[in-house]
Amino acid sequence: MPMEEKGHELSLYRRWRPLRFADVVGQDLAVRTLRRAVAQQRLAHALLFSGQRGVGKTSVARILARAVNCTAPQEGEPCNACDSCNRILGGASLDVVEIDGASNRGIDQMRQLREQVGYVPAGAQRKVYIIDEVHMLTGEAFNALLKTLEEPPPRVLFILATTEPHKVPLTVLSRCQAYEFAPLGIEQMEEKLLAIARDEGLELEPAAAKLIARRSGGALRDAEVLLEQLAHSPPVTQQTVQEVLGLPTDEVVDSFVSALAHGDAGQPLSTVEELASRGRDLGMFLEEAATRARDRIIAGESELISVARALVRWRAELPRAVSRRLHVELGILELCGRPTENRRQDPRPEDSPKTRTTKDSDRDAPDQPQCKAEPSAPTCAAKAPSRPNEVDPEWQEFVRKCYPQSKSLAVFLLPANHQLTDGVLRIILPAEYRFNYDVLQEPEVRRALEEAAQEHFGALLAVHVEWEGVDNTGPSLEDKANIAAEILEGEIVKEQSS
Ligand SMILES: [Zn+2]
Repeated sequence: MPMEEKGHELSLYRRWRPLRFADVVGQDLAVRTLRRAVAQQRLAHALLFSGQRGVGKTSVARILARAVNCTAPQEGEPCNACDSCNRILGGASLDVVEIDGASNRGIDQMRQLREQVGYVPAGAQRKVYIIDEVHMLTGEAFNALLKTLEEPPPRVLFILATTEPHKVPLTVLSRCQAYEFAPLGIEQMEEKLLAIARDEGLELEPAAAKLIARRSGGALRDAEVLLEQLAHSPPVTQQTVQEVLGLPTDEVVDSFVSALAHGDAGQPLSTVEELASRGRDLGMFLEEAATRARDRIIAGESELISVARALVRWRAELPRAVSRRLHVELGILELCGRPTENRRQDPRPEDSPKTRTTKDSDRDAPDQPQCKAEPSAPTCAAKAPSRPNEVDPEWQEFVRKCYPQSKSLAVFLLPANHQLTDGVLRIILPAEYRFNYDVLQEPEVRRALEEAAQEHFGALLAVHVEWEGVDNTGPSLEDKANIAAEILEGEIVKEQSS
């Protein structure tokens, strides 16, 4: 049946919520243990389910609530057919109470719970309290809960679920049997998505299922919700998923990774420019590229390890970057060192970008001032900044102060001189540092610079950044790469030594 005819029905993930332990995906250990405990009637009176969102904690709690109350259980599984199962499935059972710890009602419900919990449930039934996001309960509610856990009433089962078990008070934790719900594996989710599509009569490309699974970070529910969105315009192909998620195509990601591995900054830089101009999420792209590099390493391209590592690092550093785009661009330039054109003329056997040595840099840029290229070179990276500007010691002092706040701001300021007259700070960059000048025009960098300058030099009326060069066509990519690589040299050396 086509999806659009089902608009009024339950959402996919609700309809596909597992009804039996055997249908739960990816939580084998927890499910097996629980099922056995039910079958042998050895279940503790308080359980704690912990794990990230969307991995099946609440679904398992509900199966368990039916299983302990089922009149015809089969090896710990609820029959889902008896009166009790039907009542619970229909939400009509008074013996299963769900409490959302995150809602304001939490405290009232906990008070009610304390009052009600004394009453033994009707018949042979077991009263089940499912408290979701239990770590969100207020202190008062926790106390109420603790009291009931300390003196557990007969035939009551507490199932506490949380994404953040470390926020649950130890006094509560220590009274619960703990079950950990692991994030789902990509293949498990992929399989499940394909099974859902089959049953829904929805055309879903295996590559699309894989992509959805990969983007869902181990949360099956997220994957199902995304599949449902995509199901409105079948068939679901890899391309539609990429479009909906704003992901670049595989070819783009692949050539991005390959170019980085070959030390060719050109293609990666234009990809970043393209993504930024279309307002795409750079973080998501880096994750995609890192995943792709990982897959290729596993497939045998071990030379991609340094690229994968760099991608992961850039991704991790992104939230703290002064400018996200600039941060990634600098990373690319740092990793590649210089553009391919240069490399081709180079008769040396190809080094991986990370194994560039200080000595190589000597040869590449003999005219640039730099650290002494001794075997003990890492010491020059340890001290920041690595290339003291001996002409302007006061400026050097300022740059040193910037360094802990923003390493990249500091390296860009390093080659400059300064003049401070009547509250106006002039920052003058020599002709060969056009790239630094361009970078310092970026609004976010500019703001960071002005803040730092105000702090160091006191009340300033203005901060001017000037460049001593003659503007013709602007710097070539090669210049940018050489300059940035040279500026960032200290950091490359440091990485190599660690
Ligand atoms: Zn039943």
